[in-house]
Amino acid sequence: MAAEPEPKPELDAAIGDGDAEKSAPTTPPPKATRRKDGLIVLHTGNGKGKTTAALGLALRALGHGMDVCMIQFIKGKWSCGEHEAAKVFGERFEIHPVGDGFTWDTKNRAQDIARVREGWELAMDKVRSGRFRMLILDEINYVLSYGYMEAREVLEFLATKPASLHVVLTGRNPPPELLEAADLVTEMVKVKHPYEAGIKAQKGIEF
Ligand code: ATP
Ligand code: MG
Repeated sequence: MAAEPEPKPELDAAIGDGDAEKSAPTTPPPKATRRKDGLIVLHTGNGKGKTTAALGLALRALGHGMDVCMIQFIKGKWSCGEHEAAKVFGERFEIHPVGDGFTWDTKNRAQDIARVREGWELAMDKVRSGRFRMLILDEINYVLSYGYMEAREVLEFLATKPASLHVVLTGRNPPPELLEAADLVTEMVKVKHPYEAGIKAQKGIEF
């Protein structure tokens, strides 16, 4: 695993450290004066909920008639509930797991890079189709921190994406440039996880 990105004091200040008292706002937020239709949203941190929160945004967007495409760069061990649930929305909600067969070791690095490339090209095709208002790049931060793709390419896409497209990026260890490019960054902080108490992954919670 690549080293954690260098901390950026101004982003740390903005993100807070999960301590409610310390991160409580002392000044009112600036009045919203400008419209921006397509946001860059980033979910990171070592607590559970990054992918789940992205799915929550998908549900919210779908409810407003916005179609959603999710590219999952790392597929879980289990068949996830969201794959079944997405079928209810038909073509309006596509989920594409592209990480099936990942090895995440040096032996098959070339193969892993090829899978990442396929996933990225698929994501770009979906954007070009113009059918979607939200694109979720699930676990893209892992892909970048493993060096399987260059952050520059993701940043170029974010800088030139269709204005109204919401892009949601998830995963630990995002490159600092991605934190800077995002409009909304949420860090999930682990307080407790059932795994630590030896409790197995639960249907409806983890998959
Ligand atoms: P989820 O998909 O449940 O929202 P996530 O996207 O925040 O989780 P990932 O890093 O993608 O987290 O890991 C996915 C799996 O790892 C999930 O089954 C999740 O419950 C588990 N997990 C997440 N955080 C922790 C943790 N701190 N300790 C143990 N297991 C964890
Ligand atoms: Mg996840």
